[in-house]
Amino acid sequence: MLKGKNALVTGASRGIGRAIAIELAKQGANVAVNYAGSADKAEAVVKELEELGVSAFAVQADVANEESVKDMIKQTIDTFGSLDILVNNAGITKDNLLMRMKEEEFDAVINTNLKGVFLCTKAVARQMMKQKSGRIVNVSSIVGVSGNAGQANYVAAKAGVIGLTKTAAKEFASRGILVNAVAPGFIATDMTDVLTDEQKEAMLTLTPLAKFGQAEDVARVVRFLCSEDANYMTGQTLHVDGGMVM
Ligand code: NAD
Repeated sequence: MLKGKNALVTGASRGIGRAIAIELAKQGANVAVNYAGSADKAEAVVKELEELGVSAFAVQADVANEESVKDMIKQTIDTFGSLDILVNNAGITKDNLLMRMKEEEFDAVINTNLKGVFLCTKAVARQMMKQKSGRIVNVSSIVGVSGNAGQANYVAAKAGVIGLTKTAAKEFASRGILVNAVAPGFIATDMTDVLTDEQKEAMLTLTPLAKFGQAEDVARVVRFLCSEDANYMTGQTLHVDGGMVM
């Protein structure tokens, strides 16, 4: 389905990003595995991808830093020769009630989860415009649609990602670049592992399918948005949330 395509997935050394990298590789795409911290986990993902028969490499970059992002995109294009797919997946949480939330907590989450998407999109779009084609998929969150107490920073960023997706879709449509988003609900990863049993239980009661999603559930929808099956879709946000928001 994606044979010969070259992809970059941010925050791909674990969780949803890792699952997306594997799903794209299963369809034949070469994948650059972005990571922020230690290289070990990213290198392990690279190995898994190579075992699927594609080219892969790990690339360190902080998505919130413009120079770092530019270097990452350059390395990816230098290595693969082109860049067909960008998945903006990297994200963090720093939860607190709004009245207790510190400015640093707000800024850190906006910088990684929203500015990071802007910086990566801008850097990649230059290349995709030259190619006259490309796919960008942004990982938002269902709370960006519904709101969520204790996550003003995260919700603002994820709602911003949906707006950014629509705007980029409109600006890039004539250049053959399609931009869509996914909005996952509660997915079992390191990010949600830190929640208390009470918080997890509360999430489950809000989920009609009455179970947590898996990283692969999100990855398969991202793969669809990167494929020719989604040729006539742009600016959309697909909910992958077990029915939380209808
Ligand atoms: P995770 O914490 O396992 O993965 C996040 C990844 O992003 C990590 O690999 C981390 O190193 C990387 N990252 C963080 N800051 C970075 C930076 N500045 N530069 C580059 N990489 C950075 O969490 P996850 O659940 O796999 O989350 C992946 C995405 O899905 C995030 O955007 C998250 O907000 C979103 N999401 C997750 C859920 C969920 O329930 N798990 C729900 C909705 C949306």
